[in-house]
Amino acid sequence: MKRRDFLKAITAGIVVSGIDPFVLSALAKRAPASSTPEIDDHIKDYLYKMRNFDSVHEDDVYLGKDSLTLLRSTVSRLKRLQRLVGHGNFHLLSLDYGLKLSRNYSKVGRFTQEELDFLEQIFYSDSAVYGFFGVKPLDNITAVINKREVIKIPRSGNYLYKGEPQALYEKVKKHVGGKVYLTSGVRGVVKQLMLFLNKANKNQGNLSLASRSLAPPGYSFHGIADFDVGQKGYGAMNFTDRFTTTEVFKKLEQLDFVSIRYPNDNMAGVRFEPWHIRVHSS
Ligand SMILES: [Zn+2]
Repeated sequence: MKRRDFLKAITAGIVVSGIDPFVLSALAKRAPASSTPEIDDHIKDYLYKMRNFDSVHEDDVYLGKDSLTLLRSTVSRLKRLQRLVGHGNFHLLSLDYGLKLSRNYSKVGRFTQEELDFLEQIFYSDSAVYGFFGVKPLDNITAVINKREVIKIPRSGNYLYKGEPQALYEKVKKHVGGKVYLTSGVRGVVKQLMLFLNKANKNQGNLSLASRSLAPPGYSFHGIADFDVGQKGYGAMNFTDRFTTTEVFKKLEQLDFVSIRYPNDNMAGVRFEPWHIRVHSS
C-alpha cells in the first residue's frame, strides 16, 4: 500500500466517525506493538515530512498546471480585497460581503465565475487527498461571523470570540505576564482562503506543502475559537520552532490549563505549532 493510501485509510476513520485526530495520534503511538514494519515505515515517513514541512516531498499533491493562472489571479484579488477593507476587518469578512465589495470597487474588481468555482472547489474538496487530516469545524463557504460575538483586542489588529476564548486569553496573560501577546485570533473563511492559497501560490500550487503549515479554509480552528500567541519583540520568529526557546513558551508549558492544538508529531498532517492555543470546548 502506498504511503498516501495508508494515510487516507487511517483518516477515513476520522472523517466518518468523528474521532479526534489526537486520539488517533495516541493510538498511532501505541501502534508498533501490533503493526507491521511496513506501517512503521509509513509513520516514520509521515513524521519526517511534518518535521520538514516547508520542503517539497515526492508524493506532494499539486493543483493542475491549468489552474495556476487562476490561483494567481484569485490570490491577487483576495489581496486587493484585504487592502480595501484593512487587515483587521479582513479577519472577519464573509465571502458574500467580499463579493459585494469586489463588484462595487473597481480597485478590487469582480470575481470571475471561474475564480468563484475555483474557491468553491478548494473549500469543498476533501483535504485528506493532499494530506491534511484535521476535522472541519466550518462546513459552509458562506459562513458569517457575528460581530457581536467577537471582541477586538487593542493594538493587536486581531479579534477573539467572546466567552471561553477571550477568558482563556485573559487567563494566559495573567499567568504569563506582560511579554505575551495575541498574534492571530479569529479568522473567517475569506482570510483562511487567502492565507492558504497564497502559500500554495508561492509554491507552484503545492497543496500538500501549504497545508502542512496552514489549515485549508474551513479546517482552521481560528474560524471558531483558537488563537495564536507570541512574545513581544519576537516578530515573525513567533511562528517558528524558535518560539519554544522564549520565556513566554516556557511559562505556557507550565500551565496545566493550556494545550496546544498541533503538538509535535501530531497525526493531523500539520507541523508542530507551539504557539497555537487550543480552546477546549472547540
Ligand atoms: Zn494558529
